[in-house]
Amino acid sequence: MAGKNTNRIIPIPMMSSNAYVVTNGKRSILIDAGMKKKEKKIVAAIERMQLSPDDIQLIILTHTHYDHCGSLKALQEITKAKVLVHKAEAACLKKGYTEFPKGTMWFPKIMSAIGRTIGKGLGKYAPVVPAITISKRFNLRAYGIDGYVLPTPGHSAGSLSVIIEGKYAIVGDTLFNIFKHSVFPPYADDQKALLKSWEKLLKSNCEYFYPGHGKPFMRERLQKTYEEKRR
Ligand SMILES: [Zn+2]
Ligand SMILES: [Zn+2]
Repeated sequence: MAGKNTNRIIPIPMMSSNAYVVTNGKRSILIDAGMKKKEKKIVAAIERMQLSPDDIQLIILTHTHYDHCGSLKALQEITKAKVLVHKAEAACLKKGYTEFPKGTMWFPKIMSAIGRTIGKGLGKYAPVVPAITISKRFNLRAYGIDGYVLPTPGHSAGSLSVIIEGKYAIVGDTLFNIFKHSVFPPYADDQKALLKSWEKLLKSNCEYFYPGHGKPFMRERLQKTYEEKRR
Protein backbone atom coordinates (compact mmCIF):
# COMPACT_ATOMS: atom_id res chain seq x y z
CA MET A 1 0.00 0.00 0.00
CA ALA A 2 3.03 2.30 -0.29
CA GLY A 3 3.83 3.11 -3.94
CA LYS A 4 3.79 6.74 -4.94
CA ASN A 5 1.65 7.92 -2.06
CA THR A 6 2.91 10.86 -0.09
CA ASN A 7 1.66 9.51 3.22
CA ARG A 8 2.58 6.23 4.84
CA ILE A 9 0.28 4.38 7.23
CA ILE A 10 2.05 2.13 9.71
CA PRO A 11 -0.01 -0.18 11.93
CA ILE A 12 1.22 -0.82 15.48
CA PRO A 13 -0.53 -4.04 16.50
CA MET A 14 -0.52 -4.68 20.26
CA MET A 15 -2.57 -7.84 20.80
CA SER A 16 -5.48 -6.05 22.46
CA SER A 17 -5.85 -3.12 20.05
CA ASN A 18 -4.07 -1.35 17.19
CA ALA A 19 -2.54 2.11 17.02
CA TYR A 20 -1.44 3.70 13.73
CA VAL A 21 1.16 6.22 12.68
CA VAL A 22 0.58 8.28 9.55
CA THR A 23 3.65 10.11 8.30
CA ASN A 24 4.78 12.17 5.34
CA GLY A 25 8.37 11.34 6.31
CA LYS A 26 8.87 14.50 8.33
CA ARG A 27 5.63 15.20 10.11
CA SER A 28 3.55 12.52 11.68
CA ILE A 29 0.36 11.85 13.57
CA LEU A 30 -0.53 9.00 15.93
CA ILE A 31 -3.98 7.47 15.93
CA ASP A 32 -4.98 5.85 19.23
CA ALA A 33 -2.82 5.02 22.21
CA GLY A 34 -3.38 1.38 23.19
CA MET A 35 -4.03 -0.13 26.60
CA LYS A 36 -2.22 0.94 29.76
CA LYS A 37 1.60 0.58 29.79
CA LYS A 38 1.95 0.35 26.00
CA GLU A 39 3.87 3.63 25.64
CA LYS A 40 7.27 1.91 25.34
CA LYS A 41 5.98 -0.42 22.67
CA ILE A 42 4.50 2.49 20.70
CA VAL A 43 7.65 4.63 21.03
CA ALA A 44 9.79 1.66 19.93
CA ALA A 45 7.56 1.23 16.86
CA ILE A 46 7.89 4.95 16.04
CA GLU A 47 11.68 4.73 16.30
CA ARG A 48 11.75 1.64 14.09
CA MET A 49 10.21 3.82 11.35
CA GLN A 50 13.24 6.15 11.62
CA LEU A 51 11.01 8.73 13.26
CA SER A 52 11.41 10.39 16.62
CA PRO A 53 8.56 10.72 19.15
CA ASP A 54 8.98 14.54 18.72
CA ASP A 55 7.82 14.15 15.10
CA ILE A 56 4.35 13.26 16.37
CA GLN A 57 2.47 16.55 16.48
CA LEU A 58 -1.04 15.27 16.88
CA ILE A 59 -2.66 12.28 18.59
CA ILE A 60 -6.15 11.49 17.33
CA LEU A 61 -8.39 9.26 19.42
CA THR A 62 -10.85 7.26 17.36
CA HIS A 63 -12.78 7.13 20.66
CA THR A 64 -12.11 7.04 24.40
CA HIS A 65 -12.45 3.40 25.41
CA TYR A 66 -9.71 2.23 27.80
CA ASP A 67 -8.08 0.02 25.14
CA HIS A 68 -7.48 3.06 22.89
CA CYS A 69 -6.38 5.70 25.40
CA GLY A 70 -4.74 3.65 28.17
CA SER A 71 -1.26 4.99 27.36
CA LEU A 72 -2.41 8.38 26.09
CA LYS A 73 -1.25 10.43 29.08
CA ALA A 74 2.24 8.88 28.95
CA LEU A 75 2.47 9.36 25.19
CA GLN A 76 1.29 12.95 25.40
CA GLU A 77 4.09 13.65 27.88
CA ILE A 78 6.71 11.91 25.70
CA THR A 79 5.68 13.45 22.36
CA LYS A 80 4.24 16.81 23.57
CA ALA A 81 1.64 16.30 20.86
CA LYS A 82 -1.81 17.89 20.83
CA VAL A 83 -4.68 15.51 21.53
CA LEU A 84 -7.78 15.54 19.34
CA VAL A 85 -11.06 13.96 20.39
CA HIS A 86 -14.73 14.28 19.43
CA LYS A 87 -16.64 16.80 21.54
CA ALA A 88 -19.05 14.07 22.68
CA GLU A 89 -16.26 12.24 24.51
CA ALA A 90 -14.11 15.15 25.71
CA ALA A 91 -15.68 15.06 29.19
CA CYS A 92 -14.90 11.31 29.48
CA LEU A 93 -11.29 11.94 28.52
CA LYS A 94 -10.92 14.70 31.10
CA LYS A 95 -12.40 12.38 33.73
CA GLY A 96 -10.42 9.33 32.68
CA TYR A 97 -13.47 7.11 32.48
CA THR A 98 -15.67 5.97 29.60
CA GLU A 99 -18.53 3.57 30.20
CA PHE A 100 -18.23 0.13 28.65
CA PRO A 101 -20.15 0.02 25.32
CA LYS A 102 -23.31 -2.05 24.80
CA GLY A 103 -22.96 -5.56 23.39
CA THR A 104 -24.37 -6.33 19.92
CA MET A 105 -24.25 -10.14 20.31
CA TRP A 106 -25.08 -12.43 23.25
CA PHE A 107 -21.60 -12.94 24.66
CA PRO A 108 -20.52 -9.27 24.35
CA LYS A 109 -23.87 -8.35 25.96
CA ILE A 110 -22.87 -10.34 29.05
CA MET A 111 -19.37 -8.84 28.97
CA SER A 112 -20.86 -5.36 28.65
CA ALA A 113 -23.15 -5.89 31.64
CA ILE A 114 -20.14 -7.01 33.69
CA GLY A 115 -18.06 -4.10 32.40
CA ARG A 116 -20.71 -1.58 33.36
CA THR A 117 -21.11 -2.90 36.91
CA ILE A 118 -18.49 -4.95 38.76
CA GLY A 119 -15.87 -4.37 36.06
CA LYS A 120 -16.11 -0.59 36.21
CA GLY A 121 -12.42 -0.20 37.06
CA LEU A 122 -11.57 -1.53 33.60
CA GLY A 123 -13.01 1.56 31.92
CA LYS A 124 -10.61 3.88 33.79
CA TYR A 125 -7.41 5.45 32.42
CA ALA A 126 -5.18 8.45 33.21
CA PRO A 127 -7.21 11.59 32.35
CA VAL A 128 -6.05 13.95 29.59
CA VAL A 129 -7.20 17.44 28.62
CA PRO A 130 -7.62 17.50 24.82
CA ALA A 131 -6.24 20.52 22.89
CA ILE A 132 -8.72 20.05 20.04
CA THR A 133 -12.35 18.92 20.20
CA ILE A 134 -14.33 18.50 17.00
CA SER A 135 -17.90 17.74 15.99
CA LYS A 136 -17.51 17.80 12.22
CA ARG A 137 -14.86 17.11 9.56
CA PHE A 138 -11.37 18.26 10.48
CA ASN A 139 -8.70 18.73 7.82
CA LEU A 140 -5.20 17.43 8.57
CA ARG A 141 -3.39 19.68 6.08
CA ALA A 142 -1.97 21.82 8.91
CA TYR A 143 -0.21 18.68 10.19
CA GLY A 144 1.34 17.84 6.83
CA ILE A 145 -1.07 14.99 6.16
CA ASP A 146 -3.31 14.66 3.09
CA GLY A 147 -6.45 13.62 4.91
CA TYR A 148 -9.26 14.48 7.29
CA VAL A 149 -11.01 13.29 10.43
CA LEU A 150 -14.62 12.22 9.93
CA PRO A 151 -17.16 11.66 12.72
CA THR A 152 -18.48 8.08 12.45
CA PRO A 153 -20.68 7.61 15.55
CA GLY A 154 -22.27 4.30 16.54
CA HIS A 155 -19.69 2.21 18.37
CA SER A 156 -19.58 5.22 20.69
CA ALA A 157 -21.10 8.69 20.42
CA GLY A 158 -17.78 10.31 19.58
CA SER A 159 -16.24 7.69 17.31
CA LEU A 160 -14.00 9.16 14.62
CA SER A 161 -12.41 7.80 11.44
CA VAL A 162 -9.34 9.20 9.72
CA ILE A 163 -9.44 9.27 5.91
CA ILE A 164 -6.06 9.43 4.17
CA GLU A 165 -5.74 10.46 0.51
CA GLY A 166 -9.41 9.62 -0.01
CA LYS A 167 -8.40 5.98 -0.19
CA TYR A 168 -7.48 4.65 3.25
CA ALA A 169 -9.68 4.75 6.34
CA ILE A 170 -8.42 4.25 9.90
CA VAL A 171 -11.69 3.51 11.64
CA GLY A 172 -11.12 2.54 15.29
CA ASP A 173 -13.91 0.25 16.52
CA THR A 174 -16.40 1.29 13.83
CA LEU A 175 -15.25 -1.90 12.09
CA PHE A 176 -13.81 -5.04 13.71
CA ASN A 177 -11.75 -7.54 11.74
CA ILE A 178 -11.76 -10.39 14.25
CA PHE A 179 -14.58 -12.57 12.89
CA LYS A 180 -14.44 -14.62 9.73
CA HIS A 181 -17.75 -13.65 8.17
CA SER A 182 -18.39 -10.14 9.41
CA VAL A 183 -16.75 -6.84 10.30
CA PHE A 184 -19.62 -5.81 12.59
CA PRO A 185 -18.33 -4.71 16.02
CA PRO A 186 -19.28 -6.91 19.00
CA TYR A 187 -19.90 -3.68 20.93
CA ALA A 188 -21.84 -0.60 19.81
CA ASP A 189 -23.88 1.94 21.75
CA ASP A 190 -26.09 2.83 18.76
CA GLN A 191 -26.33 0.26 15.96
CA LYS A 192 -28.52 2.48 13.75
CA ALA A 193 -26.01 5.31 13.89
CA LEU A 194 -23.26 2.77 13.23
CA LEU A 195 -24.83 1.66 9.94
CA LYS A 196 -25.25 5.31 8.91
CA SER A 197 -21.55 5.80 9.58
CA TRP A 198 -20.79 2.74 7.45
CA GLU A 199 -22.73 4.41 4.63
CA LYS A 200 -20.56 7.50 5.07
CA LEU A 201 -17.43 5.35 4.88
CA LEU A 202 -18.67 3.57 1.75
CA LYS A 203 -19.48 6.95 0.18
CA SER A 204 -15.97 8.19 0.98
CA ASN A 205 -14.80 5.70 -1.68
CA CYS A 206 -12.05 4.34 0.55
CA GLU A 207 -10.55 1.06 -0.59
CA TYR A 208 -8.58 -0.03 2.47
CA PHE A 209 -9.75 -0.14 6.06
CA TYR A 210 -7.57 -0.18 9.16
CA PRO A 211 -9.57 -1.31 12.22
CA GLY A 212 -8.91 -0.88 15.93
CA HIS A 213 -8.93 -4.67 16.29
CA GLY A 214 -7.67 -7.12 13.69
CA LYS A 215 -5.83 -6.70 10.42
CA PRO A 216 -6.43 -4.20 7.61
CA PHE A 217 -8.92 -5.34 4.98
CA MET A 218 -10.47 -4.26 1.71
CA ARG A 219 -13.70 -2.49 0.89
CA GLU A 220 -15.53 -5.63 -0.35
CA ARG A 221 -15.57 -7.02 3.20
CA LEU A 222 -17.31 -3.93 4.53
CA GLN A 223 -19.72 -3.87 1.59
CA LYS A 224 -20.66 -7.53 2.20
CA THR A 225 -21.38 -7.12 5.92
CA TYR A 226 -23.26 -3.88 5.23
CA GLU A 227 -25.58 -5.61 2.75
CA GLU A 228 -26.23 -8.49 5.18
CA LYS A 229 -27.07 -6.09 8.00
CA ARG A 230 -29.47 -4.09 5.84
CA ARG A 231 -31.50 -7.15 4.88
ZN1 LIG B 1 -14.18 0.72 21.64
ZN1 LIG C 1 -11.39 -1.24 21.10
